[in-house]
Amino acid sequence: MGRTAEAVIIGGGVTGLSTAFQLAGRGLRRVVVLERKFLAAGGTGHSVGIVRQLYPTRETTEMVLRSLAVFQDFRERVGGEAGYVPCGVLIGVSPAMRPTLEKALALQKTLGVQAEILDPEDLPRLEPRIDPSGLGAILHEPASGYGDPASVAAGYAEGARRRGVTIEQGVEVVAIHRSGDRVTGVLTASGEGIDAPVVVNAAGLWSPRVARLAGVELPIVIGRHPVFAIERDPAFGPAHAVYLDLAGGSYVRPETGSLTLTGSLTDDETEHPMDPDLLGAEAGFDEASEALARTARAIPRLADSRLSRGYAGAFDITPDWMPILDESPVRGFYVAAGMSGHGFKLAPAVGEMMAALITGSPGPVSLAPFRLDRFASSSRAGTFVSSYLG
Ligand SMILES: Cc1cc2nc3c(=O)[nH]c(=O)nc-3n(C[C@H](O)[C@H](O)[C@H](O)COP(=O)(O)OP(=O)(O)OC[C@H]3O[C@@H](n4cnc5c(N)ncnc54)[C@H](O)[C@@H]3O)c2cc1C
Repeated sequence: MGRTAEAVIIGGGVTGLSTAFQLAGRGLRRVVVLERKFLAAGGTGHSVGIVRQLYPTRETTEMVLRSLAVFQDFRERVGGEAGYVPCGVLIGVSPAMRPTLEKALALQKTLGVQAEILDPEDLPRLEPRIDPSGLGAILHEPASGYGDPASVAAGYAEGARRRGVTIEQGVEVVAIHRSGDRVTGVLTASGEGIDAPVVVNAAGLWSPRVARLAGVELPIVIGRHPVFAIERDPAFGPAHAVYLDLAGGSYVRPETGSLTLTGSLTDDETEHPMDPDLLGAEAGFDEASEALARTARAIPRLADSRLSRGYAGAFDITPDWMPILDESPVRGFYVAAGMSGHGFKLAPAVGEMMAALITGSPGPVSLAPFRLDRFASSSRAGTFVSSYLG
């Protein structure tokens, strides 16, 4: 007889590990996480880890507030280190985007978000090195910043193990068994089967592939998102805050040493579909020049930086750039995927929400906007920028 589990989670990134931690916290005894490589080998280990709070809806705001509280107090709530650096986040918008920003923030303030909108003339007081031309407003989120995604994954893994979860690395799921419209377990590459009434697809960039093993199609595109590490010139001075330039299409976040991680916010990932197995490959020179030119327009003094490295990242993108957190049409086969480039900052809340869904208990945030069937009933479309402003 093969092994049995109460739940099998496919994928050892932040989503799967946070879900495992929460499922065990809700009393599930035999939870098994299967990771085909090593923990955080996927999007999690290649993430930039920015935690901004600006979101356009009640549910996403509630999720990011819950998650931020976990990052701020990770040792107590989960164990281990989140590497959270509350350096502050500045978000620049064009004059045309300003009314939408004001509307989004008004809603967010009623939910507890602490942030303020500044006029471009106020920018020098906070960060004189950002070029304010072309901006209509800047949002300042003082408590936001960035965390260390691999460390957060490790913390959730340790916390889950303490709660009795089994985590197996180097174990690939190659088939998902079902009986009629119900999932019954998985088969691994070594030929071992695990019977389970619950299987969670938390395979990130590989989630469409994993879903197909159960006969489920997910509306997810894997889109390329290269990241560049640049070494700031010594004359640049102290490290900058995280800056997300929605008007000019770039972002920067400080990294240890005198490095800055940077990339584009140009909403073109879906035009560059990528084989997820190419994650981490070296980025091309043309991509680098284009992205760094945008970075230098946002913060001209970064123009003198030296390119240290560039690599291919990728996002698992749904049509509205919001996650799918739902049971699939195959009963017992759940999907926590399609994080669309913002799954790190939401992972603590996603774990809680998935655990509530799977155990049939009340969750902290409504799952209604994240249902899989939302795409069948309407032609919902979005962009990365719409995940900020709606
Ligand atoms: C370059 C980049 C920058 C980002 N920046 C940010 C940011 O600033 N802020 C933010 O909030 N988010 C950001 N994100 C997004 C965020 O990091 C991801 O959404 C999140 O880490 C995804 O975690 P996950 O657990 O869902 O997926 P993953 O981390 O991809 O984990 C899925 C795992 O499943 C495993 N797997 C796949 N197939 C199988 C199988 N058949 N059997 C067993 N295991 C399998 C994979 O090996 C992988 O480890 C960024 C992502 C990238 C790539």
